[in-house]
Amino acid sequence: MKVIKIGGGCLKNKETIAAILDLLVERGQGNIVVVSALGGVTDLLLNGMHRALADEEAIGELMCRLKSRHMLVAGHVIPGEKQRRAFSLELGKILGKLERLYYGLHFTREITPRMADSISSFGERMCAHLLRTALQAREGKACCRFPEEIGILTDGKYADATAQLDKSETAFMKKLRSMQNGQRVLFIPGFYGVSEGGEITTFGRGGSDYSAAVITAISGAEVLEIWKDVDGFLSADPKFIPGATVLPELSYDEAAELAYFGAKILHPRTVEPLRDKGLPIEIRNTLHPDVTGSRITAQGAARLGVVKSVAHTTDISILKVHASGVGMRRGILSEVATAVAGKGVNIKSVVTSQTCISLLLARKDLEPAAQALQDLQPRPYRNLERIEGIALVAVVGKGLAERPGIAAGCFSAAAACRVNIEMIAFGPSPVALYFIVQESDLRTAVNAIHNHFFQASQGFTR
Ligand code: ASP
Ligand code: MG
Repeated sequence: MKVIKIGGGCLKNKETIAAILDLLVERGQGNIVVVSALGGVTDLLLNGMHRALADEEAIGELMCRLKSRHMLVAGHVIPGEKQRRAFSLELGKILGKLERLYYGLHFTREITPRMADSISSFGERMCAHLLRTALQAREGKACCRFPEEIGILTDGKYADATAQLDKSETAFMKKLRSMQNGQRVLFIPGFYGVSEGGEITTFGRGGSDYSAAVITAISGAEVLEIWKDVDGFLSADPKFIPGATVLPELSYDEAAELAYFGAKILHPRTVEPLRDKGLPIEIRNTLHPDVTGSRITAQGAARLGVVKSVAHTTDISILKVHASGVGMRRGILSEVATAVAGKGVNIKSVVTSQTCISLLLARKDLEPAAQALQDLQPRPYRNLERIEGIALVAVVGKGLAERPGIAAGCFSAAAACRVNIEMIAFGPSPVALYFIVQESDLRTAVNAIHNHFFQASQGFTR
């Protein structure tokens, strides 16, 4: 048995959804299918909260939009009138619950983390029902169960939950073993689970990949297949490097680092639930579904010390905390980190010297983090410096840390085209080296480094 995750990119419009359904008729039987929301729906749900807060009238409008978005697809992929009506009824029930939440939010005048998680989880539910009904209409046997029904249990942390694998496995086996009878397709909405107290908690944006990995780990599946509209991980962003090649094999760590550093293929936490059981992930492009694009396993490819990929992201900023004797002052790092975490900000990475702590943050987190430190009394630093307009480039490959010349290769490639490397970190992960450049230099830097490490035709190191 396998778990198939269908990404939002394949659920963008009625044509792509029809193609997915054809594939599921052919190869979905007896497997579990974890779905994202239809493309754009989670954003609609989240933005809708602010509109509902400000204006009661907006709620009705929002419900209409959600209804017509799903009914439009249903009109195309559910041929029978009767089944279409059944879906419309089911959708109405789901939207009724959602509408009550929006009114609750409007009248309490507050968007709590609990409310935001409950509301944002609705896209996946609507999508799972839609696909279930559409598959049934094509004579496929299908059913649908929600995470709250099968007991996907989390630690209860809103917007960043972690699954409790052992407890979820026990619950899942009890409730669902009998349903996997080798014929049906079982649809499960991704993106969220429930705390032990029954609260809906999401796994963070893009978290349905992680959900699918959790379900793979607890259901006795042999593999997680991720169906996408791309082949898999590439040696670089094809927008920068048109000749970038697909990486056929990666280790868990390589995939996690690449995902963390900007490759938008997979949620960075997807490999976590699979580690203990050593279960593989296969990324497949639904345009040629017989070919595995990238396969991710515990060990990855045999060759070590090879640069596999050059990833990048512009969603980065640095907050420099200038203080004397940082390296000697016990507790200053934890004081800074605690203050920043108190504002709900995640520190991506930290580099310290004797006079400065550099916090790497997502762009949106720069101001809240600075604010948190300004509020400290007494201030444990001299001044703060905000650095924006930068980009991060990561070079990823298992064994890189033990191979001499990788950092030097990056430096000389960058220097040859007059790109200044502003900051570098090598060592925190044995499979990744990253550095910061000016955003305006990003394309040049990625090109230079990719060219340096990849021979144009083969895609391997010098
Ligand atoms: N629908 C959610 C999001 O847009 C989860 C996912 O697609 O993975 O973040
Ligand atoms: Mg995704």
